[in-house]
Amino acid sequence: NYILEAVDVSFEYTDGTKALDNINMKICKGQKTVILGPNGAGKTTLFLLFNGILKPKSGKIMFNNKEVKYSRKEIEKLRKNVGIVFQNPDIQIFANRVYQEISFGLMNLGMPEDLVREKIEKVLMQMDITDIKDKPTHFLSYGQKKSVSIADIIVMEPEVIILDEPTVYLDYEHVSKIIKTLDDLISQGKTIVLSTHDVDFAYSWADYVYLMKDGKVIDEGKPIDIFSD
Ligand code: ADP
Ligand code: ADP
Repeated sequence: NYILEAVDVSFEYTDGTKALDNINMKICKGQKTVILGPNGAGKTTLFLLFNGILKPKSGKIMFNNKEVKYSRKEIEKLRKNVGIVFQNPDIQIFANRVYQEISFGLMNLGMPEDLVREKIEKVLMQMDITDIKDKPTHFLSYGQKKSVSIADIIVMEPEVIILDEPTVYLDYEHVSKIIKTLDDLISQGKTIVLSTHDVDFAYSWADYVYLMKDGKVIDEGKPIDIFSD
């Protein structure tokens, strides 16, 4: 049961850089898919295609077994259903205070304030960041910013949560908090896709792994199969 698929997808940036070269990838609903690959492999580009920020040059993106046709309505639907947490939290966080930051998306939908408050309290607890809810975002540590940027996305309750290098530059405590949150989301039936350089983490955590290099998928499989050779 695949919720997202890339079928023969290629992508080139306007300066001619070939970022993705005939990618085929299937994301199983409710599973933990990990994409491993060095810098420049095309992971971020693929993520931007998965939520409709970019459009393939050739090939197609499928969501719930339907080809995305890139009408405004379909792109909106894809973005609503597929949330991305970017690697750098600074490009995602723009409100002055944590509570305001996390409530922004819901307020924007016109959700009543008491319902917004309820959802935010829940996410703050889930991520164990209730203590910083009134803090200025400007003064947060990198790990706190990372948590806030994840809260930003999960409060919107997308079906698929994509995270670009969620554990990089973090200490053990923050990493385990984030992993606990991701496991919670899985137990709620959400689908997680994340990129990492961390082979041990991929091996121990993923249900399914894709190895990317130079814009291509060079291997894929269950961790036990992919790391045994
Ligand atoms: P296997 O025989 O190795 O257990 P399956 O029969 O389950 O594999 O799957 C057949 C194909 O479906 C695989 O080669 C792979 O391309 C794809 N596939 C299987 N599981 C997943 C998954 N969790 N995520 C993405 N693709 C998968
Ligand atoms: P990864 O996330 O695996 O590091 P990216 O998707 O960021 O890979 O990059 C894939 C390729 O596309 C790299 O060669 C990178 O330099 C290039 N690239 C990324 N963003 C842009 C852009 N905005 N314009 C031109 N080239 C880009």
